[in-house]
Amino acid sequence: MNSGFDIDKIRADFPALHQEVYKKQYVYFDNGATTHKPESVIQRIKDFYSFENSSIHRAVNYFSEKATQQYENSREKVKEFLKAAKKEEIIFTSGTTASINLVAYSFGEEFVGKGDEILVSEMEHHSNIVPWQLLCKRKSAILKVIPFNDDGELDISEYKKLLTEKTKIVALAHVSNSLGTINPVKEMISYAHEKDIPVLLDGAQAVSHKNVDVQDLNCDFYAFSGHKLYAPTGIGVLYGKEKWLDKIPPYQGGGDMIKNVSFKETTFADLPFKFEAGTTNFTGAIGLASAIEYVQSIGMHNIFNHELELLNYATTKLEDIKNIKIFGKADNKISVISFLVDNIHQYDTGMILDKLGIAVRTGTHCTQPVMDHYNIDGTVRVSFGLYNTIEEIDILVNAILEMIKMFS
Ligand code: PMP
Repeated sequence: MNSGFDIDKIRADFPALHQEVYKKQYVYFDNGATTHKPESVIQRIKDFYSFENSSIHRAVNYFSEKATQQYENSREKVKEFLKAAKKEEIIFTSGTTASINLVAYSFGEEFVGKGDEILVSEMEHHSNIVPWQLLCKRKSAILKVIPFNDDGELDISEYKKLLTEKTKIVALAHVSNSLGTINPVKEMISYAHEKDIPVLLDGAQAVSHKNVDVQDLNCDFYAFSGHKLYAPTGIGVLYGKEKWLDKIPPYQGGGDMIKNVSFKETTFADLPFKFEAGTTNFTGAIGLASAIEYVQSIGMHNIFNHELELLNYATTKLEDIKNIKIFGKADNKISVISFLVDNIHQYDTGMILDKLGIAVRTGTHCTQPVMDHYNIDGTVRVSFGLYNTIEEIDILVNAILEMIKMFS
């Protein structure tokens, strides 16, 4: 167990964990979908709505100025968290999906034309496929796909061949949500940059598990969602290098994103406001800053080590059950395990585990091409967060053994 990591204290911070379902201890292994929230984040939101609520940027009154200041402090907090160079490079959105759509639209408008190519990988979440397909349709461009091998690792030599003078942008999962693979994105970005091709990283499954340094990675865009990082739903982030954000047009029009509006001509606000049309989810941004403070107080390094311990323990225990097949065996993984139990449909496994108090996810996990790769219609996925324990994994393993007995 890693020192300085007090699991009992951490679990006490999360009210949602201390419940029973169907009179069984509630075990939450669906953190890849969304995480529970610590008391400090819940309290921050409650305090804000109770005593500080006022719309940002638009009024000269006490609480509006205070709220604006807190919203901008939250931007500063995200900047530090991602180790970005400037706070103008941090745009608040509603989540990863919105961030990727923003880039696919705005970058696409400016830089993608007929016959150009966009490169994604075979393991992307639908959120990092469909916006690019829509762009390709609009612009008569072509979507190319980097394949992965059966262990769930991207084929880097194929990737290098797919980078051509026609490639306009590469969009890649930092971490796969269905296989758990941590992709070698730094190396992949450097290959793309040799050909002056920008790279967007989908960080939805990365930021809650490991340190992210956008300047060290040298990515051009980075997207993530607050709700998978112990923060509220409806808030997310797009990081973009200033040189790109300056060159691409606004995504949506409305209040706050303009300098001057007339019927003759409208001019746009400076970064980051150019991309924040309308009343943003400022309460969510303040909650996100509180969640970042929470994970930083534990330390991302400690979180990574704790979850690695859970991953290794659960993998060994599940591999010991001969009826189980695991999908995604990359050397470099975060705490996600996708699996199937022989002869038992994933939905049945999910439903039985649920009745035993264990929340898992079943289905394609919004990665249908990953399922097509293995010629299956879905998997059972367990995904661990900072508050999960070895004892909970034992409960899962015993439940699976009981289920196999029932079916045989
Ligand atoms: N990308 C990945 C890798 C994800 O896991 C998810 C959420 N499952 C998303 C994108 C979409 O995130 P959101 O629905 O919060 O926009």
